[in-house]
Amino acid sequence: MTDQDQNKDGYEELCSICRRPESVAGKLVRMPMNMYICPQCMDKLSDMIDSQMGGMNNAGAIDWSKVMSMYNPSNFQMDPNMFNQNITKTESEDAEGDEKTAESAEESGESKDLKKTDEEEAEKKEKKKSSGIPKVSFVNFADLPFDFGFGGRQKVKKKEKGEHKPLIELKDIPAPHKIKAMLDEYVVGQEKAKKIMSVAVYNHYQRIATNTMDEIEIEKSNMLMLGPTGCGKTYLVQTLARILNVPLAITDATTLTEAGYIGDDIESVVSKLLAAAGNDVDKAEQGIIYIDEIDKIAKKQNTNSRDVSGESVQQGMLKLLEGADIEVPIGASSKNAMVPTTTVNTRNILFICGGAFPGIEEIIKNRLNKSGGIGFHAELADKDDQSKKIMQKVETEDIRKFGMIPEFVGRLPMVCALEGLDQQMMVRILKEPKNAILKQYQKLLALDEVKLNFADDALELIAEKAIKKETGARALRSILDEYMVDIMYEIPKDDNIGTVTITRDYLEGKGAPEIIVRGAE
Ligand code: ADP
Repeated sequence: MTDQDQNKDGYEELCSICRRPESVAGKLVRMPMNMYICPQCMDKLSDMIDSQMGGMNNAGAIDWSKVMSMYNPSNFQMDPNMFNQNITKTESEDAEGDEKTAESAEESGESKDLKKTDEEEAEKKEKKKSSGIPKVSFVNFADLPFDFGFGGRQKVKKKEKGEHKPLIELKDIPAPHKIKAMLDEYVVGQEKAKKIMSVAVYNHYQRIATNTMDEIEIEKSNMLMLGPTGCGKTYLVQTLARILNVPLAITDATTLTEAGYIGDDIESVVSKLLAAAGNDVDKAEQGIIYIDEIDKIAKKQNTNSRDVSGESVQQGMLKLLEGADIEVPIGASSKNAMVPTTTVNTRNILFICGGAFPGIEEIIKNRLNKSGGIGFHAELADKDDQSKKIMQKVETEDIRKFGMIPEFVGRLPMVCALEGLDQQMMVRILKEPKNAILKQYQKLLALDEVKLNFADDALELIAEKAIKKETGARALRSILDEYMVDIMYEIPKDDNIGTVTITRDYLEGKGAPEIIVRGAE
């Protein structure tokens, strides 16, 4: 791809050292290994090699072991005013710099070798003036014996001005029942959540497609999902983004802190979406952000210190959820002078927050007891059943009591509670979804032309064990994997095996799996 082609797709190259885009840093020089360097960094690099190390070794080549020992990324730290400065240095500055170089060389006792004659100095200045990129010719980056830590090549797609182009056209947005049907193929149970989500997403993308800014403006339908760990919150959002083919970022609220404190800046959640959208700002502005563990940023109770990872984060997220122009760092989790930033508008980004909210049942129960006058305990005898039903009655008032500030809850108008998984649901998760774990094993063995079956009571045993682990459906895979190692090891050994049935006895160590030889099926 030529440079011209790259510009055509709207992406800009970034300097591999200071990470500023070409439009800010000036014309970038293309180096081997897909690196781009701006004139200022090129100057600094060349000066560093030239003045601090005494240039080349006796053979006239760069002594990279010396460069390596000297390399320090902070040498490239930019002062913020630099962005406003003219990129080419003035002659007086150059002369000053050269004087300093000579001084430092004297200090280090290398004055004899390094002191240059006036003619050499003049020649050097002349060279600088004429090429603008001094001594580039002997810097071969492909020879670098170390990693500068530049990471991959980063480019940002410039925002297209003018026409608003929706990611999904109005006619292509699937109706809510179709979205739900597609979710049904992958996610077991959670009917209410799937329904609410289908409607929220449908409304959201309709809102973007019509882009109505007249007197009836459709409000944003951000969502809040409550449910125990491993019940499918993240999986639902992942499936949704895949169905709709929109960029998705999954982040964790626990790492977020108020700007300036150790941790990720709040804007980093948008950075992740930008990365998921291939640094295409237009695409990112219509994506989905899922923020997990949102209950961990609840207001800290009884604390005297500043709540930098709780209430402050909620406050900081308000404008993000509502929709605002946000300066986001590109490819980093916090803003600093070394990281380029771009502006992303979050007005059309769908935010879905999820959390387990442990202990919220008590809050709901107390509210119901107070308002109804009748003890909730009286209605439902079974404790598990009771807890499940109580979660379904969650209201924003309870979430506020839990520690979320009213403004935050107000910006997540769709609230739904997911059910904890029972044994029956676990068994269904094992075998029903389109990419169910059992189906994956069956496919693997089918490659060896072996049919794999599971007895119902064997699946129940796996489900029972998974429930005991209390990590939801996540435990199913690890339990099954453990049992399957021996089967997957032994079966390919014997060409005669046609069908294998995994029984409960086998899982309990009381017997062998049932095997039927080929031809006898
Ligand atoms: P959490 O609710 O903690 O976000 P996840 O969505 O990450 O849990 O679930 C973990 C894994 O368990 C998923 O990757 C998925 O394979 C499986 N899983 C959980 N719930 C369901 C479900 N209702 N239907 C199908 N698979 C599920």
